[in-house]
Amino acid sequence: MNKNWQPQTRAIRGQMEKTQYGEHSTPLFLTSSFTFDSAEEMAATFAGERDGLIYSRYSNPSVDELVAKACALEGTEAGFATASGMAAVFASLAALVKQGDHIVATRALFGSTHQLLTNILPKWGVTFTYVEPDQPETWAAAVQENTVLFCTETPSNPGLKLVDLEAAGKLCRAHNLLFVVDNCFATPVLQRPAEFGADLITHSVTKWMDGQGRVLGGLLLGTQEVMDRVITFCRHTGPAMSPFNAWTISKSLETLHLRMDAHCRSALVMAQWLGTQDGVASVHYPFLESHPQHALARRQMSAGGGIVTFELKGGIAAAQRLLNSAELCTRSSNLGDTRTILTHPATTTHSKLTLQERAMVGISDGLVRMSVGLEAVVDIQADLVGSLQ
Ligand SMILES: *Cc1c(COP(=O)(O)O)cnc(C)c1O
Repeated sequence: MNKNWQPQTRAIRGQMEKTQYGEHSTPLFLTSSFTFDSAEEMAATFAGERDGLIYSRYSNPSVDELVAKACALEGTEAGFATASGMAAVFASLAALVKQGDHIVATRALFGSTHQLLTNILPKWGVTFTYVEPDQPETWAAAVQENTVLFCTETPSNPGLKLVDLEAAGKLCRAHNLLFVVDNCFATPVLQRPAEFGADLITHSVTKWMDGQGRVLGGLLLGTQEVMDRVITFCRHTGPAMSPFNAWTISKSLETLHLRMDAHCRSALVMAQWLGTQDGVASVHYPFLESHPQHALARRQMSAGGGIVTFELKGGIAAAQRLLNSAELCTRSSNLGDTRTILTHPATTTHSKLTLQERAMVGISDGLVRMSVGLEAVVDIQADLVGSLQ
């Protein structure tokens, strides 16, 4: 791949080499293993003395193409693709911590990441402390002698609080912590944590990167040094992505820049419009001037993303009325699709949190999360307007 090309060109032209058929679009390599011409060649491949494919739990041409494109987009040295976003998040932590270690994490993480920290890693003697995402001046106080890793997510789901990536990078360098970022909400089109010193970036490619609601997938992208540890962990624990999913997502990346531009443009229009509706108490969107971290959003993101959240004055009843009346928008817990999706976090994705925990991450009863799709904005507005008066 030509390293001088812009990221969007590399997402399109960063294909694997053509086979003998000269195909234009990359074929799908649906094979679990690979063969060798001789016993000696096989032995040399296993010994790492020659490059060669062995088994699709390790690597596969369809998966390797996706990883190479994703590294080009994020500006990272190495990567590994996993079966889901959570497989990537789990591997990012499990590969890098050991018994007795401590993690500092920003509060308001993805629900299953919160479960990992609170219920799963403690079984192996790994502890954590939450810090407030929007108060970087308080983070250093949470660092202990045994802290090895700082893990964060920005913008957060569904509160859309931002984490100052430059401040996080400085903290990690000062305290010699591994810096791990879940970049799912922003995608590398809007924000590249590696530029702020992130050692490891995780993605749920299920969301914007596939962007069409078809397949699950995850990515681990980082420095060669950290990825060597993560790849060894993944090869032996088996979270590998299916070649079919990788092939699908590799094609999705060809349109990622175009799609994100359009999602962000529509999301900003929707955020501004929602603010003018009588039934809406408040709107949260990083590129609205009313967002408390608007200046930070402009510094570290190139656009505000495709998620808008808003609070309805009528609480749960009003939120459920809005979701029930929608005919174009879909009721679903997913996000990052061509189709606009409405979610009511308090009764679904975040219903397991206590009332107090929900309040701490900004989830009120009337909060609605909208993943803005690629339909005409006027049609989305027409679908909602009757329930927003
Ligand atoms: C969805 C999501 C995940 C988990 O991804 P899956 O592909 O559903 O396993 C992790 N982090 C964030 C921020 C997400 O939105």
